[in-house]
Amino acid sequence: MTESLNGTDWSKGSGYVDGQFHPIAEAKIPITDWGYRRSDVTYDVVGVYYGAFFRLDDHIRRFRASMDKLRLKPRESDEDIARILTALVRKSGLREAYVAMDCLRGKPGPGVPYHPAFGRAYLACFAIPWVWLFTQEQQARGVHAMIASTPRIPAESVDPTVKNFHWGDLTKASFEAFDAGFETAVLLDRDGYLTEGPGYNVFVVIDGVVVSPLRGVLEGVTRQSVFDLCAELGVSHQVRPISRGELTQADAVFFSTTAGGIMPVSRLGARILGNDRPGPLSTRLRETFWAKRRQGWLATPIDYDAAD
Ligand code: PLP
Repeated sequence: MTESLNGTDWSKGSGYVDGQFHPIAEAKIPITDWGYRRSDVTYDVVGVYYGAFFRLDDHIRRFRASMDKLRLKPRESDEDIARILTALVRKSGLREAYVAMDCLRGKPGPGVPYHPAFGRAYLACFAIPWVWLFTQEQQARGVHAMIASTPRIPAESVDPTVKNFHWGDLTKASFEAFDAGFETAVLLDRDGYLTEGPGYNVFVVIDGVVVSPLRGVLEGVTRQSVFDLCAELGVSHQVRPISRGELTQADAVFFSTTAGGIMPVSRLGARILGNDRPGPLSTRLRETFWAKRRQGWLATPIDYDAAD
């Protein structure tokens, strides 16, 4: 029973901030820290489903690479991070959880230069009930998406392979979609090539080949799972630039993310894809993904009864 560990209610989620565990409502960061004020932060999100992490090592590896690129060095090792995330899920008791790990730049203390090189980095992590980026209904009938007029922030300015909170372009695109009656919008780069969307990678299917953009995107862990599934199912896949023309003419489009898996698209702007329903290949990939997840594919099971 995790709901009342030491008389504390962890059931709504659990947090870890700079070395201390808290119930989620009490997990807080200082509002003066640069992680918040300057978005000087990187993060990762790993999913827990059926009581197990999915590709935990891949998420921690990407998180460490992101921290290194931003020169953020928290005191915790990768093994510590795995232990912390496991403890968070165990405390919450959640069998399906959205588990985030953030590394924030604190703020330079008194007597040192007001420069990021002098801000201490620390971790803020949490586990909360699972989040679906698109509802089950939207996934079953296909997501309604459009192409945003807002271009993705140039990769030379903010490296999209470092998972980050510079969401200004993604949020603007989300409002474009909202105002036009769509559920989301995918973004192109300034040269008109497909990048990604708010919280997900994008794939197109052209003549039976699954294609995903080469540059300007987060190297999604679920995207890697799509490639792995394609290899297993004997479906050709490519990673290369995708022009606006190829996107708008594609036979099918689908998205991938931790918070949802593989999510087919049935409308792209004015264009109705297939029969206004998910295409056969997107459906096959989505169903195979969840069937394999149920069977423990790349899973790290959580021992909910272990002591911390
Ligand atoms: N692209 C962006 C901008 C994201 O924020 C995310 C996930 O949050 C993804 C892609 C998908 O990455 P993953 O499959 O690792 O969750």
